Amino acid sequence: METRCPVCGAEIEVPKTISTTECPYCGTVFDVKTGEKSRLEHFYFPVYVKDPYDKLMRFLGRQYGVPTDLKLSSTYTKRLLHIVPIFFYHLHGRALVEAKSRKLGSFTAVVEEVDDIGIPAFSGKIAELLKEYPFPLRGKKFFEEKLKTMGIYYEPEIERVEADRTAETLLTEKLSKEASEVAENFRLTKFLEFKVEHKGLVYYPIWELEYQYKGNVFKGFIDGVTGTVIQGEHPLALRSRVIQFTWSLVFIATGILFGFLVLQQSGTGLPGIVAALFSFIAGVAAALPQLIRTGVRKVSASEILHPTPDKPKEILKKISKPLLSGEITLKYGEI
Ligand SMILES: [Zn+2]
Repeated sequence: METRCPVCGAEIEVPKTISTTECPYCGTVFDVKTGEKSRLEHFYFPVYVKDPYDKLMRFLGRQYGVPTDLKLSSTYTKRLLHIVPIFFYHLHGRALVEAKSRKLGSFTAVVEEVDDIGIPAFSGKIAELLKEYPFPLRGKKFFEEKLKTMGIYYEPEIERVEADRTAETLLTEKLSKEASEVAENFRLTKFLEFKVEHKGLVYYPIWELEYQYKGNVFKGFIDGVTGTVIQGEHPLALRSRVIQFTWSLVFIATGILFGFLVLQQSGTGLPGIVAALFSFIAGVAAALPQLIRTGVRKVSASEILHPTPDKPKEILKKISKPLLSGEITLKYGEI
């Protein structure tokens, strides 16, 4: 028989014999006859990954700078299973945007966002790692008491209403972000659709692993359902640390060299010194990420792409801010 998902509206073919089903598109569990969302709102994902250490080692083995004997010389020292609560949501928003651009002048546009997200209902390191994590949609089961003894079980720490608000904020942010891609100068004027559908509280399995390599301890976090390496620490081979250190020195040297060249060109007045200083800062900023990586023997890698800010730019901003807010004022055109 045919049925329709009450959350995303998808038409689904289901066998006549079943009473509830899970939407393949958004993961909502609902009654196939009445089309009502399941009143049981607690679910869990079973642990499918039984050998998380193997997943971790395979992934780390492919990372840049990993010692070739990593797998051979490592000892698997610890493994813990965390059962963590996540609020699942289906988001759908459409908004009217008033925009202005140099090319097109004033105009209106419509932006749309459809997304499925999970909001951790607990705090700590694992919760941080799971922010904006792409959870699987399908495969959950109704909550069972046995979960509480399967691993380290976390009770939800945040209320449903708080999670609802976080989800609403996220949808607004996502719509704004899309609007900002339409034009630099924009205003969200009206929501044509703003749906934040709670799909339930889902208990999710996360493996925490530890291994030792040449006397040092390294950690890894693996998705217990999909086997995705959420985060894995690994040592850097000495050779690649040396290469990175050399590169950072080259960056700094280039910065200093350009600084002197600029100084020679513009004389020894204040503008020249400021320009030289900036050139030097740019060199250091370019070298910093390399230096930081060289300084530590532990490096983290992840199989999921986190939306990270433009790091060198951030560092440059941090360094140049005190300069810009101080006594020195830059006048464009003078340099
Ligand atoms: Zn659906």
